[in-house]
Amino acid sequence: MKINLANIKKAKKLLNKNECIAIPTETVYGLAGNAYSNNACKKIYELKKRPKKNPLIVHYYNYKNLEKDCYFNQDFMKLYKKFCPGPITFVLDLKKKSKISKIVTNNKNTLAVRFPKHPVTRNLLKQLKFPLAAPSANLSTKVSAVNSTDVREDFGKKIKYILEGGCSSIGVESTIIDLRKKPKVLRLGGLEISAIQKLLKKRLTI
Ligand code: AMP
Ligand code: MG
Repeated sequence: MKINLANIKKAKKLLNKNECIAIPTETVYGLAGNAYSNNACKKIYELKKRPKKNPLIVHYYNYKNLEKDCYFNQDFMKLYKKFCPGPITFVLDLKKKSKISKIVTNNKNTLAVRFPKHPVTRNLLKQLKFPLAAPSANLSTKVSAVNSTDVREDFGKKIKYILEGGCSSIGVESTIIDLRKKPKVLRLGGLEISAIQKLLKKRLTI
C-alpha cells in the first residue's frame, strides 16, 4: 500500500501530545500511546475499558531502540533475526532504568515487546522518540479490529485519530513467547510454534 506521509505526520503530532490513536499492524489494529507517558497509557486503559492488571504490549522500530528498556538473550536475538519485524511478541526482563510507564506493566518487572511489520506503522515508529504501548483496538469485550471501520464501530468519536493502513494482512494476534528462562508460549497467534521450535532447536511449553 502507498504510504500517506501527511497521515503519519498527523499521527505523530497527536502521539507527541500523549494522545491515543489507532494504528494499523499486520496482525490487528492497535490502540497506541507513548509507552513512556503515564497519561497516554492511562487513556489506553480507559478507552478500552481494560482491567488494570492486564499489561500492554510495547511496539518498537528495531532492537536497538529496545536496548535501553530490556535485557536480551541468545534466544531473543535468534528469533529477532529470523522473524522480526513480524507477528511475534517477546516477554523479557525490564531494566531498572527503563522509562516505560508502570501503567504499561502493572508494576511488573517484565515487558512484552513486538516489532510490527506494517509499513505505515514502521514509518511512524521510526520517526518517534518513544515506543508505542498498544493493545488491540477493540473494547475489552469485543473481537479484535482488522480495519479502520472495525475500530470506528467500537470507539466512534472517542478516539482522536485512526491511522489508515487498509486491512491487517494476518488478521489474528501475535504469538506471545516468554523468553526469560525456558521458552514458554503464552498465547498462540500469527506465527506457528513449529517454526519457533525449529529455529531454537528446543521444545516449547505451552
Ligand atoms: P492485547 O494487546 O490486547 O493483544 O493483549 C496483550 C497480551 O499480552 C495480554 O494477554 C497480556 O496478558 C500479555 N502480556 C502483556 N505484557 C505481559 C507480560 N509482561 N508478561 C506476560 N504477558 C504479558
Ligand atoms: Mg486484545
